[in-house]
Amino acid sequence: MACGKVYLVGAGPGDPELMTLKAKRLLGEADVVLFDRLLDPRMLDGVRAELIDVGKNAGRHKLSQEGINQLLIEKAKAGYIVVRLKGGDPYLFGRGGEEALALQEKGIPFEVVPGVTSSIAAPALAGIPVTHRGMASSLTIVTGHEEPGKEAPLDWSAIAALGGTLVVLMGISRLEQNASALIDAGKPPNTPAAMVEKGGWPEQRMISATLGDIARKAKEEGIESPAILVVGEVVSLAQKLAKKKIAILRPAAQQNESAALAERYGFSPISAPAIVLAEKPLPEDLLERLGRAECVAFTSANGVNMALKRPDIRQALVEKMLVAIGPKTAQALSVQGLASMMPEEYSSKGMEKLLRNRCRSILFLRSSQGSKYLSEGLREAGLLVDDIPLYEVAPSGDPMLDELIKRARSVDIFAFTSSSTARFLIERAAAMGLEEELRRALAAGTVAAIGKPTREELSRLGVNVDVMPEVFTFESMLALLRELAR
Ligand code: SAH
Repeated sequence: MACGKVYLVGAGPGDPELMTLKAKRLLGEADVVLFDRLLDPRMLDGVRAELIDVGKNAGRHKLSQEGINQLLIEKAKAGYIVVRLKGGDPYLFGRGGEEALALQEKGIPFEVVPGVTSSIAAPALAGIPVTHRGMASSLTIVTGHEEPGKEAPLDWSAIAALGGTLVVLMGISRLEQNASALIDAGKPPNTPAAMVEKGGWPEQRMISATLGDIARKAKEEGIESPAILVVGEVVSLAQKLAKKKIAILRPAAQQNESAALAERYGFSPISAPAIVLAEKPLPEDLLERLGRAECVAFTSANGVNMALKRPDIRQALVEKMLVAIGPKTAQALSVQGLASMMPEEYSSKGMEKLLRNRCRSILFLRSSQGSKYLSEGLREAGLLVDDIPLYEVAPSGDPMLDELIKRARSVDIFAFTSSSTARFLIERAAAMGLEEELRRALAAGTVAAIGKPTREELSRLGVNVDVMPEVFTFESMLALLRELAR
C-alpha cells in the first residue's frame, strides 16, 4: 500500500477565490479532507474526497486538538492523501505546528501549504494597509485570547511601546481588558482602532473608533467572531481606501447586472430589491388604440421588453414614431430593431418640445403608476394622450430588503432608481418599526436619485438627495458617485 501523506493547507480568510492554486489542486487530489466549521462551503464545491467537519456541528461535539491529531495520523496510516484545511495560514495561531509535530513524531510525511492570513487580508479588504510609508513601518500580530496558565504571558507594556501597527486575533472576548491594558501601558487612548468582522466574507463589516472607545462600540454594534482588532494610524486610511457599500434597490431581475456594474465602478454592492414588476393583463382594444396614436412612448426598458413579447404589438410599432424616455429604454428598443427619439429633458416640457410639429396624439405604454404630470402637461399643450398600463410596481416582500433595513447603518450609499424604490423602502422600514433608524442612516449616508421624479419623491418623503446624474441611467449614477468619492 502506498504511504499516506498529510497536507496542512491554508484556506485564506474566507473568500474561496483567496485560496492558493496549490490548495485548490490538493483539494482535487485528496482522499480525505478535514475542515473547520467556519470555512465557506463553496471551497469544497466539486471536492470528491471524504469530508470531515472537525468543528462543532449539530448533534456532534467538536473534536479536541488531540482528536484531530489522531484522526490525521489514522487516515494517513491507512494510505490516504489527507488535506487538513485551516482558516488563513496554518502556522499563524492555527495550531498547525502542533499537528505537524504530531505527524513528525509518528514518521508520517507532511507538508505545509501557506495561506493568505486574515491578520493581513482582513484589514486589507477593509481598506487598511497594515504598513504605510511614513505611518507604520512594522506590524505586530498577537493573540488577544491567551490560554490560562500559559508560561509566557503577553507583555502589554512592551507591545504598547512599539510603534507601527498592532493586529490582535481572537480578540473579542477580552477586547475591553486588552484595550485597557494597552492604554494603561501608555498607548494614547485616541490611537485609531478598528474591528474587522468576517473579512472576505459576503457579510464583512468594519467599525472604526479610537482605542479608548473601540470596546464599547464593538459591543454596541454586536461585532462577532471571527473578527480582528487593528490598532494604529493606518486605520485612518480606510476612510479613503475602503470600498463603499452601495444598496441596490432595483427589482430582483436587474440585480445581477447592476451589482456587476457597481463592482466595476469599485463599489461593494448590497442587493436589496425593494420592488417587483407585476405584468398587467392588456386591454382588448389595445391594437385599436395603438392604431389611433401617431406616436408611442416607453418610459422603461422593462416596459419595452414586456410589450415586445407580443408579435402583433411589435408589428404595430414598426409604423409608429417611437419615443424613449432615456438611453436604456432607447437601447431596449434598438436591440429589437426599433429606432426611437429621446427628449432632452424628462418632463412634459421636454416631451412637448420633442413632439411639437411632429405629432398630435401619443400613447404611453408604461407602468400603472407612471407620472400623471407628464400626461396632463401634454394634454394641456393640446395633444391627445392615451395611457395603457403594462405592469404594476409592487413592494417586493424580499427578505434581502429586510436584511438591508436592519443593517442600514453600515450602508454608505443608497441608490434609488425609481420613486417606487424610495416609497417602498420607507414603508417597509416603518412596518418593521425601523423607520427612524433608516432615516438616520439615509441622513448619514449618500442618497443618490437616478432622475428628477425619483428626486422629487424622495424630497416629498423628507429624504435629502445628495447626488443626481445628468443622464438618467444607473451607470451614470455610479460614474458620478465614483467621481465624488475622490
Ligand atoms: N490561522 C488564521 C488565524 C486563526 S486564529 C489566519 O491566519 O488567519 C482565529 C482568529 O483569526 C479569529 O479569532 C479572528 O481573530 C481571526 N480571523 C480569522 N478569519 C478571519 C476573518 N475572515 N476576518 C476577521 N478575522 C478573522
